[in-house]
Amino acid sequence: MMKGQVALVTGASRGIGQAISLKLASEGVFVIATATTDTGANATVAAILAQGGAAQAVRLDVADSAAVEALFKKIAAEHGRLDILVNNAGITKDGLMMRMKDSDWDSVLDTNLKGTFNCMREASKLMTKARYGRVVNISSVVGEMGNPGQANYCASKAGLFGLTKSAARELAKRNITVNAVAPGFIETDMTAALPEKGREALLQNIPMERLGSADDVAYAVGFLVSPQAAYITGQVLSVNGGMYM
Ligand code: NAP
Repeated sequence: MMKGQVALVTGASRGIGQAISLKLASEGVFVIATATTDTGANATVAAILAQGGAAQAVRLDVADSAAVEALFKKIAAEHGRLDILVNNAGITKDGLMMRMKDSDWDSVLDTNLKGTFNCMREASKLMTKARYGRVVNISSVVGEMGNPGQANYCASKAGLFGLTKSAARELAKRNITVNAVAPGFIETDMTAALPEKGREALLQNIPMERLGSADDVAYAVGFLVSPQAAYITGQVLSVNGGMYM
């Protein structure tokens, strides 16, 4: 059903973004996979080609609105369409609030929240013209529940809920759905630094007693961007092993 569609997945070099890219490509979607360097998404593209799919690697800093605009111009010229946008790029700069530097606040908000806005603003133009679109923003369980040491990250991820719901209302009549996925704790580079003690404490708060996999998130995204999810918009789908219900 998605064969021939074109998707942009931000932060697709590894982790959740890579799993989402592979999943969409396996459905016949052409995936534009971004990373912050020219070659960062090459491994993802190679894996997609190896499984018989089609993809291209692109460098993009989502916080740079001029770069986002330029990429969308390129997508319009080369593909003439964008059916699916997955705003997955995200960073953390953790620290207690009383010691948090302006630069740590700004870079996390600029990448996670403004970066998503930058891409949605451009995608909405292409999708409106086509009267079709699927947007999924990757938020987080901590955007719902908060987390000490992550004031900047949690604010950015909570902001995505308001952004998602507003855009869903704006774009609904154009046949464009906008949803958020809120993963719990997922095994990726982002959580690899968790100390063993912290990991054990964390597992006690997860009813399923395991961290999630990037594929767990990719399957949820794959559903929300499918034509079958046509009547679902403005929603938050939690993928967290029952951690926050
Ligand atoms: P990850 O392994 O750290 O990968 C982050 C990705 O974002 C990389 O591809 C990175 O590209 C890209 N990126 C970073 N800054 C960027 C920028 N300014 N512009 C464009 N791309 C940028 O992260 P992950 O664990 O897969 O997480 C993916 C998303 O899920 C994030 O939004 C994260 O907040 C969210 N999430 C993760 C978890 C978890 O437990 N892992 C839980 C909830 C939500 P480079 O390779 O070039 O640096």
